[in-house]
Amino acid sequence: MGKLIDEKIQGTSLLTPKKTDNGRKLYIESYGCQMNFSDSEIVASILSAEGFNTTNKLEEADLVLVNTCSIREKAEQTVRKRLEKFNAIKESRPHVKVGVLGCMAERLKSAFLEEEKIVDMVVGPDAYKDLPNLIQEVDEGRNAVNVILSKEETYADIAPVRLNSNGVTAFVSITRGCDNMCTFCVVPFTRGRERSRDPHSIVKEVNELWNKGFKEITLLGQNVDSYLWYGGGLKKDFDKASDLQKNTSINFAKLLHLVAEAQPRMRIRFSTSNPQDMTLDVIEAMAAHDNICKYIHLPVQSGSNKILKAMNRQHTREEYMALIDNIRNIIPDCGISQDMIAGFPTETEEDHQDTLSLMDYVKYDFGFMFAYSERPGTLAERKLEDDIPLDVKKRRLNEIITLQQRHALYRTQQHLGKIEEVLIEGDSKKSDQEWMGRNTQNTVVVFPKEQYKVGDFVLVKIKDCTSATLIGEAVGYTT
Ligand code: SF4
Repeated sequence: MGKLIDEKIQGTSLLTPKKTDNGRKLYIESYGCQMNFSDSEIVASILSAEGFNTTNKLEEADLVLVNTCSIREKAEQTVRKRLEKFNAIKESRPHVKVGVLGCMAERLKSAFLEEEKIVDMVVGPDAYKDLPNLIQEVDEGRNAVNVILSKEETYADIAPVRLNSNGVTAFVSITRGCDNMCTFCVVPFTRGRERSRDPHSIVKEVNELWNKGFKEITLLGQNVDSYLWYGGGLKKDFDKASDLQKNTSINFAKLLHLVAEAQPRMRIRFSTSNPQDMTLDVIEAMAAHDNICKYIHLPVQSGSNKILKAMNRQHTREEYMALIDNIRNIIPDCGISQDMIAGFPTETEEDHQDTLSLMDYVKYDFGFMFAYSERPGTLAERKLEDDIPLDVKKRRLNEIITLQQRHALYRTQQHLGKIEEVLIEGDSKKSDQEWMGRNTQNTVVVFPKEQYKVGDFVLVKIKDCTSATLIGEAVGYTT
């Protein structure tokens, strides 16, 4: 695939000119998925252009923004508890403004202002460019709300301001929204229809990150496999595109080739995949480039065909297993992780056993496992009774977690005695005498620091392991 010519980008505002410092401090707190953390970096950039300085000290803030998650009831409760804490801030510093961003803001809209009196501003995931106007409204004493979902917005022209960055790894968002309508999920309602970002701006951001010393990027989207650029617009309108647009369109596999060739030494990861949209050419693109990490996060949610149907997952258990077989055939040592839901409505003991047997088949490296949490407005909430008793949900979830831990240990033990390439990201959680990094399979590796430093690619001999971590000794730099 040829190198992209980015003359178009030079004209746009990727390098947003910063207004003079307005002396105001911005504090952002993010919850939920990587997409939210990446969005907070977009917000920091938009407001930095307005003259705000970002602080990570709440007590210094003039503007407090909370980027919220709505994926489960517990996530929303966490946000509400956190907002209560801000009452004291406002009592001691009445000029402070509080805004909520993200999926909970989009789900509740102006009702958020009623339910949480501390909140001055409610902004949905597609309305961040309107923040300067909304802040002005709040400064003039009015509440402000913008929760309009967009058909175009990808923030391609905004250069993210990296927050709490280790200077080594960074997120690069490539799509927004999701068209899949899984019956348990709020995302299609809180993030809108799928649209993909201009590949020129993606490659430009990756090049800039490399020039700033970053060594690994994660291409982000709710559903990266359905990335499709054909000049802008919604994925669902692709059929209406011209033949030229169709013939020159760029799907996820092509984008992987583009990014991998643009920066051959930059490590590339991506998240999140959806089994129904992952195609063979994506797996082949991964195999074709050493710098694309051999790891796939491949949520399945259930191993039962009856439950997959009730979840509106557009694949069967057998099709998912065939995809796993393809991955294992093309990339034998590929790391694979899962998302699993226990206790979805109508789930029987037999359905639960199907989930456990699917896990036995795949033996995932790790997973994100939760009990079903009914979400307002979803098809499951409207059509299905949340009929699985809480104790049954908890017991099934524990069985899933226990099995996952056994498989995770089985997977980490496969690395014993091997020499792995690790990118150093920072101190190990357990000891500041040790570095922490990850191998290509996204497994955490810890080892003594010696003369190595953050950002180095190091070869580590694996001596021991737990179910989550590989423990080793560095034997040299990657050449
Ligand atoms: S693929 Fe399904 S679970 Fe994932 S964001 Fe889209 S609707 Fe939600």
